[in-house]
Amino acid sequence: MATEDLPDNSKMDHGRARELIGQLARAGVGGISFSAGEPFLYGAEIAELVQLCKEHGIYSRIVTNSFWAKSAQAADTLVLALREKGLCQLRLSYSRWHQQHISRDNVVQAARSCQKNGLPYFISFVTDFSAADDPHEQFLRDHGLLFFPEPVIYAGRAGSLPRRSIQTDYQANCCAMNPYLGPDLDMYACCDAGRHFPATNFFHLGNLRHQSLEQLFVKSEAEPLYNCIRTMGLTNIASYLGLPARQIITYGKCELCRQLFNCPETVARLRGEQRELAAWSRG
Ligand code: SF4
Repeated sequence: MATEDLPDNSKMDHGRARELIGQLARAGVGGISFSAGEPFLYGAEIAELVQLCKEHGIYSRIVTNSFWAKSAQAADTLVLALREKGLCQLRLSYSRWHQQHISRDNVVQAARSCQKNGLPYFISFVTDFSAADDPHEQFLRDHGLLFFPEPVIYAGRAGSLPRRSIQTDYQANCCAMNPYLGPDLDMYACCDAGRHFPATNFFHLGNLRHQSLEQLFVKSEAEPLYNCIRTMGLTNIASYLGLPARQIITYGKCELCRQLFNCPETVARLRGEQRELAAWSRG
């Protein structure tokens, strides 16, 4: 998780995680992404869970910072073991912030090993789109690696980074909202970013200690405002609320989401005006 300043090494109970994979498969979940601070802090357990996903026909992905790929040989050892367990994809995080702690050669070694051993991968190039990132992007190009830029999410440790000044197109900003399950069994209706809405806890669905998986999935799919985010998009919701278009285009998607849904008054207003909001369409 995008943790706050203090390191948090909490992890899900392994037996519980195994049980949950079976339940998720029965609920029709088709893919699981293992992310965290760093899933390979618990490498043997994660490998076992990947194998379980394979047995249940669930697509599996692991998001990692590549700390383990200290040499080509070390990278091959882990990549081959994961391929053997049935991992479907490795996603390698890379940015000028990650690389203050991990050599970028590790990322190259991990990617090269995936290429060599036939394990699908891509590099998630986290950027604030500033010129400071140009050499980091060029490094990936120079090495011929598969990468996709991703906007930095200003939450957790990244919460204090200076905001970039952007002007986007007036795009819908719809969001698929994949549910997120934390080690403490709290479940959220969207990815990790959604955990950082402290004023409203808008995306919190509940906790599996008190509710069933099915109840939380139903909540995720039935909440009208979540469905507005999925279908009409955050930009239309912001226009409905009266935000000037000139201001809307200065926010990235998750930032706009936070502006709208981390505000108790806005959430209360939208809940009270759901019919009018649903009618706010081009027809
Ligand atoms: S736009 Fe909102 S719902 Fe979508 S990922 Fe960002 S915070 Fe989550």
